Amino acid sequence: MKKFIKMSLVLGALTLSVNSCSTRQKVDLVVYNACIYTVDTSFSIHEAFAVDKGVFLAVGSTQEIRDCYKGRKELNLQGAAVYPAFNDAHSHFTMFAHGLSHADLRGAQSEEEIIERLQKHYELYKPDFLEGDAWDQTLWENKAFPTNEALSKAFPDIPVYLYRVDFHAYWVNDKAIELAGVKPGDPSIKPGEALLHPDGTFTGIFLEDTGAAISATAPSPNNATLKKYMMEAQNICFAYGLGSITDGGLLLHEIELLDSLQKEGLLKIRTDVWLTPSEENFARFQEPYLSDRLDITTIKLYIDGALGSRGALMYKPYSDDPGNYGIQVTSDEDFLDVCRLAQERGFRVSTHAIGDKGIRKVLDFYAQFLTPGNDLRWRIEHAQVVAPEDFKRFGELNIVPSIQPTHATSDMGWAEQRVGPERVKGAYAFKDLIQAAGWAPFGTDTPVEVFNPAYTFFAAVSRTNLQMKPEGGWYPEQILSREETLKGMTIWAAMGSCREKEKGSIEPGKWADFVVWTDDLMTIPIEEIPETSCQMNFLGGEQVFP
Ligand SMILES: [Zn+2]
Repeated sequence: MKKFIKMSLVLGALTLSVNSCSTRQKVDLVVYNACIYTVDTSFSIHEAFAVDKGVFLAVGSTQEIRDCYKGRKELNLQGAAVYPAFNDAHSHFTMFAHGLSHADLRGAQSEEEIIERLQKHYELYKPDFLEGDAWDQTLWENKAFPTNEALSKAFPDIPVYLYRVDFHAYWVNDKAIELAGVKPGDPSIKPGEALLHPDGTFTGIFLEDTGAAISATAPSPNNATLKKYMMEAQNICFAYGLGSITDGGLLLHEIELLDSLQKEGLLKIRTDVWLTPSEENFARFQEPYLSDRLDITTIKLYIDGALGSRGALMYKPYSDDPGNYGIQVTSDEDFLDVCRLAQERGFRVSTHAIGDKGIRKVLDFYAQFLTPGNDLRWRIEHAQVVAPEDFKRFGELNIVPSIQPTHATSDMGWAEQRVGPERVKGAYAFKDLIQAAGWAPFGTDTPVEVFNPAYTFFAAVSRTNLQMKPEGGWYPEQILSREETLKGMTIWAAMGSCREKEKGSIEPGKWADFVVWTDDLMTIPIEEIPETSCQMNFLGGEQVFP
């Protein structure tokens, strides 16, 4: 009986819509004959929608939509899968754009290979200084941090700055150290942030703030050059099927460049900018700023470093480095000052926290500002090694765990060596975090990983590398369902920036941000997911790719 009632209701609605559409309304775009995952609250699937003036007007069956709407443009997708445009909830867009001019060191298998790649890059561009991104010593035979002897020998005359894949460790040559004017024992060097030879000289590896200060002495590109790279970066994002990205931790001049490119109509991708807590930023942004393309509602903090470079703050020492507990990079006092200011001015706080002690500190700090039932959506970025008793605290104060599925599969080769067999159970524990908080926005942390949403999707549902290893997945109890994954990359990502009323699903009234995919991520065999890609990308109803 129940079934019958439901059926007649559906028929009733259909008849109504057919009757009410004796004339077809002219709209900008009609998409039909598609498999549309709306990611609405009931996760419904439809065949068609109409778009006008940048927003979805109606969603329904092909017949319903075509009976009622005539598009100035009409797309028969012949059954192709459509999703809300993907939203990268944690990335560093400006840094990624800068990196397009750097030597690419990702995946290099040895120090020799890195120097070869740098030499090739140098021959090609003859720069006055060299920067390289994403080296990772855990891929080498000797997994120890390198020293800079060979690097300084290969490049004696120009400074070289090489960023580890986590961007928390810096490998620089002697020339760069000389230009920065830093010497062993300088009071400006924070404890543990300069690695030394037994004789007390620098090895050339610097961590966190000390490394950042040295690399900050590298000349920065002018705005015209930067603009070129920003546009290139946007095109890469559109080709990947992204409609929204995050730009975590920007200085005022970087925000001004973004803003000016958006006002010129050149930069269109929807960007959630997180403020670096600088005096300039606080003077300029007395309150949050929102437009349809640019959100400035969040302040970015760091409590610790990263696991790969043993900077994550732990209660007990690293299992593979006795005596090392990691680094707290923001003092308690400074941290609380920023939280206070955020609360006064109505900003949210997003804090990078990776080690179990770092995460608990942030939970404790946030607890001074948040009350049960709040909807402020203060976030913990990465939440990588959580103590078992701390999971429930995310739910208790509605603190949002922001997760990066590809971090699990990039780090699984060494994570257990760092933290041992017990602590690893709460590491990259995405299922547990989603259970505790009810939801979680997904991101890539690009340029730590790559933007490619197919990789994020694959990592979340497989927890394997691209060769499908380890079989069955790394800690498979943390594998996510495809539905959770699609939500994490769309509606939950939108919720992560308080934008679910405008985007994140295909529903009437929301911005018409959607992608057509080469295959259906929700149904194809898992091993085929990484090869899928974006076929078309629409932002506010405008086609931005291809
Ligand atoms: Zn990040």
